[in-house]
Amino acid sequence: MDDLNQPEQQALKKYQIQHDRPNCIGCAACAAVAPDFWTMHEDGKSDIVGCTKRDDEWEELDVEEKDFQVNKEAADSCPVNVIHIINKETGEKII
Ligand code: SF4
Repeated sequence: MDDLNQPEQQALKKYQIQHDRPNCIGCAACAAVAPDFWTMHEDGKSDIVGCTKRDDEWEELDVEEKDFQVNKEAADSCPVNVIHIINKETGEKII
């Protein structure tokens, strides 16, 4: 991976994780399932580690294919369905 330049690394990031943070109820399931990507904040809600924060307080992070499955499991574990995953190549909303 280290021998790839930045555009090449970005091109590997096929998926975007999105977190509808305003509607997160802070149950911590995502952080339990995928602690490398999800962490609990002191305000009681979760954050995507290393994410970009949008003006509407949603969070976004582009990830590679190898990181899809663990984040899909986090999304599946969310009781209020505020974790979404988009296929950036097709625009498909996977969850
Ligand atoms: S599983 Fe859903 S509701 Fe629970 S902390 Fe994570 S994003 Fe929030």
